[in-house]
Amino acid sequence: MYDHKRGFSGENLKHIAFIKDTAKPLFESWGYQVVILRSSKDYLGFFNHIIQNPTKHKEHKGLRFGFPHTRSCGIKRDCKEKAINDYLSTIDDQIVQYIGICPEERKRLDSLHKQDNAVSLLEKYGYSQKMAMEKCSEYGLLSPCYELSKRGGCWFCPNAKSAELKEMKRTYPDIWKEFVLLEKAEGIANKKWNIYGKLSLHEINEQLE
Ligand code: SF4
Repeated sequence: MYDHKRGFSGENLKHIAFIKDTAKPLFESWGYQVVILRSSKDYLGFFNHIIQNPTKHKEHKGLRFGFPHTRSCGIKRDCKEKAINDYLSTIDDQIVQYIGICPEERKRLDSLHKQDNAVSLLEKYGYSQKMAMEKCSEYGLLSPCYELSKRGGCWFCPNAKSAELKEMKRTYPDIWKEFVLLEKAEGIANKKWNIYGKLSLHEINEQLE
């Protein structure tokens, strides 16, 4: 989630609507139980979290955390993985996680292989990204987020493509404006949205005009 209070998702907004309105009902019609997890922390909570005891940067004590790091993303850790792990810990039976990683994604597969009870069926059956997309299309299960970009993921991610950001700005101008203004917030430890990018969020915003 971007903001729990307003119920504003962190997912690409077309994607979350597709999950709720298309994928979930279809899977349920096939007899599967579908649970959409929601983390207790949201993006704004992460951004505004006060740093109490910094291990590296002592000068950050008392500041708000700010933007998640581009690598080793805290949103992935606190909002995605934690919600999944908390949910799995409520299940007594032995669990196998089936994770959609294609044979082409060698790095991700290498880290998947280090996990216990985690399997990529796409890898197991040699199903490439292209084949997986065709199969999804066949069942009406290709998320509309792929109309804008090859990636899926949070709309506020530094890896989001211009087309995704433009869509967000066009569809939710107020939320977008508020998001861009985070870059000007006071008392922030991590002030850069994308430390590897050449442009600031404000500059990107101007380019999207
Ligand atoms: S999509 Fe981007 S912001 Fe979201 S969890 Fe992944 S790396 Fe972090």
